[in-house]
Amino acid sequence: MLDADFFRRWMAATAASVHREADRLTALDSAIGDADHGSNLQRGFTAVRSALEKEAQDTPGAVLTLAGRQLISTVGGASGPLYGTLLRRTGKALGDAAEVSTEQLAEALRAGVDGVMALGGAAPGDKTMIDALAPAVDALADGFAAARAAAEEGAVATTPLQARKGRASYLGERSIGHQDPGATSSALLIAALEEAAEG
Ligand code: ADP
Ligand code: MG
Repeated sequence: MLDADFFRRWMAATAASVHREADRLTALDSAIGDADHGSNLQRGFTAVRSALEKEAQDTPGAVLTLAGRQLISTVGGASGPLYGTLLRRTGKALGDAAEVSTEQLAEALRAGVDGVMALGGAAPGDKTMIDALAPAVDALADGFAAARAAAEEGAVATTPLQARKGRASYLGERSIGHQDPGATSSALLIAALEEAAEG
């Protein structure tokens, strides 16, 4: 079972990998966006980490709801409200249980991803974060390692796609041949689940 500490470790591990990969995320966003994705997420997850250190949220749902709120209020750009919605919706779906199963997390994340699709209007194949998140949720039944692999594959598979949502879509065909920054950061978020599980 996964308790509030697991979810705190998940957010801390995400913050650490976003920090480590910030330059790469920004480089990807400079090719098909406005070169701020790394700094946007770094600002957001730094705020998430300090909020979680200050307030002792004692359920998985409360940890994710607080994290989502921080992302919405601190990240400028499209990705803040989208990631914020992902975590808030997921947290809401987990309710006030003190511990949840991996199956419950998978179900809740599916509600979160549905929330992102409803807010941003993107479907799989539009070259967005959805292309990493949706396959990861499907793979989660087979464990965190399978989810990580699916998210990473999904992110890499955005390269030949033409963007149909977000800033990259303004480039039309010129968005082809570049990996999507948001799908890349979503793969970091999913990979951090495995790190959190390792303790
Ligand atoms: P901005 O585009 O406002 O500069 P960021 O650079 O932080 O915001 O994030 C860009 C990423 O956000 C994209 O790579 C894409 O994955 C994701 N994104 C943008 N618009 C959407 C959308 N409508 N639905 C889902 N994801 C989106
Ligand atoms: Mg950007």
